[in-house]
Amino acid sequence: RSKELGRNMVQFYMPTMNARARERLALEGALRSALVHDEFELYYQPQVDLESGVVVGLEALIRWRHPSMGMVRPDRFINLAEETGLIVPIGAWVLRTACRQNRAWQHAGFGPLRIAVNLSARQFAEPNLVPDIARVLDETGLSASCLEVEITESLVMGDVESAIRTMRELKLMGVKLSIDDFGTGYSSLSYLRRFPVDVLKIDRSFVRDIPFDEDDAAMVAAIIELARGLRMRVIAEGVETEAQLDYLRRRGCDEVQGHVYAQAASGPEVERLLRMGRHMLPHNATV
Ligand code: C2E
Ligand code: MG
Ligand code: MG
Ligand code: MG
Repeated sequence: RSKELGRNMVQFYMPTMNARARERLALEGALRSALVHDEFELYYQPQVDLESGVVVGLEALIRWRHPSMGMVRPDRFINLAEETGLIVPIGAWVLRTACRQNRAWQHAGFGPLRIAVNLSARQFAEPNLVPDIARVLDETGLSASCLEVEITESLVMGDVESAIRTMRELKLMGVKLSIDDFGTGYSSLSYLRRFPVDVLKIDRSFVRDIPFDEDDAAMVAAIIELARGLRMRVIAEGVETEAQLDYLRRRGCDEVQGHVYAQAASGPEVERLLRMGRHMLPHNATV
């Protein structure tokens, strides 16, 4: 009886479904088929040591090459993937592909490189996350210390205790942990102290107007100090100008990631870049 009612409801609502909901439904269908048809691709953005100018890591960033929509950025589909649970198989693909790629680059002689992979809340809460990561490392032969997982503060806040347990297990394996978009989430400093993380990534929104905006400059300087005090590495995201770079250098930021060095680029493009040497100059290496 209630099932019948439910069906009627659906029929009743379908025609009046708004454009947004229809678009969502279409996107969800397309997302499912993307996995089957292998339409995802990883791009990689260099993380550069500020003092030496050497590429020390790469962040893997997913792209969706849709047959008619063209290249779709993650902002357009990650949330939906998260809501529908599709992020779990997609995330597993990202992890495997990123680890395999990093291992291949190490084999090619580019030296030790870290690969950073973004994890979503849903993935982080998966009971099998830790054994899954262990298996991927085992199968690809990548050393755990060459994998860094990026999580956000908000992601952790659902169940803090279990999140901390997961972080500890990853640390024990030797995997590096970083807090992405630091400063934009809801967690408090008292939690940060309890998170066994290696890296803080300063969110792009704090970096954008430095050094001219005094408040932002103060925030960035404070985050760098905080990271140093907690013996964490600190990476500034979204660095686009030499002036930002100068400020970050003066404040002792460890690494930067941003268009001033390079945008995210496809595997073959990044490989070409690495072949030219891992040392980069600002602006001369945009791919
Ligand atoms: P994020 O992890 O904070 O990644 C940084 C984003 O900033 C990337 O956008 C990158 O291309 C962009 N970016 C880097 N440097 C600059 C710059 O100098 N200027 C500007 N304007 N932008 C810059 P992208 O690739 O579009 O990714 C957006 C977000 O999607 C990521 O933010 C991350 O939260 C999410 N994401 C990407 N790949 C994955 C994935 O494989 N799994 C999950 N769960 N999320 C992902
Ligand atoms: Mg990230
Ligand atoms: Mg970020
Ligand atoms: Mg983000």
